[in-house]
Amino acid sequence: MRKAYFWGGIHPKGNKSMSRGQDSLPAPQFKTVVLPMVQHIGVACTPLVKPRDQVKLGQKIGDGAGVCAPVHASVSGKVLAVEPRPHPSGREVLSVVLENDGLDTLAPTMHAHHDHRNLEPNEILAIVHEAGIVGMGGATFPTDVKAFSALGKVDCMIINACECEPYITSDDTLICHFPQEALGGTEVLQWTLQPARTVIAIEDNKPEAIAVLRQILRGRTDLELLVLPTRYPQGAEKQLIQAVTGRLVPPGALPATVGCAVFNIATAAAIWRAVYAGQPITRRIVTITGDGVAAPQNMILRIGSSFADAIDAAGGLLEGTKKVISGGPMMGFAQKRLDIPILKGTNAILCLKHGNETLENPVCIRCARCVSVCPMHLQPLYLYRFTKLRSVAQLTRFHLMDCIECGCCSFICAGQLPLVEQIRAGKQMWKEANQR
Ligand code: SF4
Ligand code: SF4
Repeated sequence: MRKAYFWGGIHPKGNKSMSRGQDSLPAPQFKTVVLPMVQHIGVACTPLVKPRDQVKLGQKIGDGAGVCAPVHASVSGKVLAVEPRPHPSGREVLSVVLENDGLDTLAPTMHAHHDHRNLEPNEILAIVHEAGIVGMGGATFPTDVKAFSALGKVDCMIINACECEPYITSDDTLICHFPQEALGGTEVLQWTLQPARTVIAIEDNKPEAIAVLRQILRGRTDLELLVLPTRYPQGAEKQLIQAVTGRLVPPGALPATVGCAVFNIATAAAIWRAVYAGQPITRRIVTITGDGVAAPQNMILRIGSSFADAIDAAGGLLEGTKKVISGGPMMGFAQKRLDIPILKGTNAILCLKHGNETLENPVCIRCARCVSVCPMHLQPLYLYRFTKLRSVAQLTRFHLMDCIECGCCSFICAGQLPLVEQIRAGKQMWKEANQR
């Protein structure tokens, strides 16, 4: 094991044992799924179906031009509606609502290949695009666009298996149950980008997954397993690049600037399924966990399944549950309703009996703890202050947009200030001011 040396960071309680090893793979079928046309960063898809159409599993039902990832039917059945529906972002988003016929009749749309080495990089990227693959760790940037921007520019490719957020064990579960898919997808990416060095990076709090990876990588000289000491937010792209290579990605720059490309391990597995099984993204592993759910576990869920159905399948919410979060406790988003769908980037549903106890009038005591943990070398107390003062010029001066919203500052804050919440509001304000 090597010493991680990215700047800042914290050691929150992991709480991973709650869901680790408790797996329902696959989960039960649900009656309806809701597939939003926005599940990625970029241009929204346009629906390709209309109410009363029949669809097959894997059929493309939404697509668009530019930076976009198509959406596919995650069940076979009938289109009930094409209309705005609640979305985990808090907005209403145009969605295709499908009634599941339970038959899983397959759409013969994608071709399964026998050997990725017979494919050119651009052919592989076309398959990745057609399968609607996005960053499955939650980033949701279209993977073909990311890989294209790295072509011919990287000497180090990192497969991110850190899963540094507390509570979440979906990547851990993926490695333990489907290691060949993860390894196979890594090989496809290796073939596409031809890096001199390929590293699978994982934190030392996943002993079973590490053992599985050691086993399948035995004798391999082209793939390196790097076990890093657990530290949040090691799985963030820039921090991981620094921990693995010592290189610093400049503010606003892409990892390729320093010769690196990072892909989540679940993204790699999705690539393997697209290339070797001809499967677009129609399902994913989701961790349903926390002290507010009866039976914490990992499930394979169809994209578009509702949070409510998923939580019910895990035994339901327990009395006293105060908060349901899409994602983890550090970077996730608290949800006001449960009739929202699982998206391609939903790695966890966290149900908690405790909320973020905030003070009515929190006061900064200038202890500078937030500064000492910020992995982006920012001064969160000033970002908070200038957001409150609505000073866009000062927010620019203090590099607001470099914030990765990791939540370390809020976690450590002695004055219990809702720092990251304000910083997110500040970013919105900054964007609006700079669009004028
Ligand atoms: S300011 Fe942003 S990057 Fe820095 S600790 Fe806070 S949330 Fe993380
Ligand atoms: S940690 Fe909180 S109280 Fe301390 S300086 Fe930062 S904002 Fe102020």
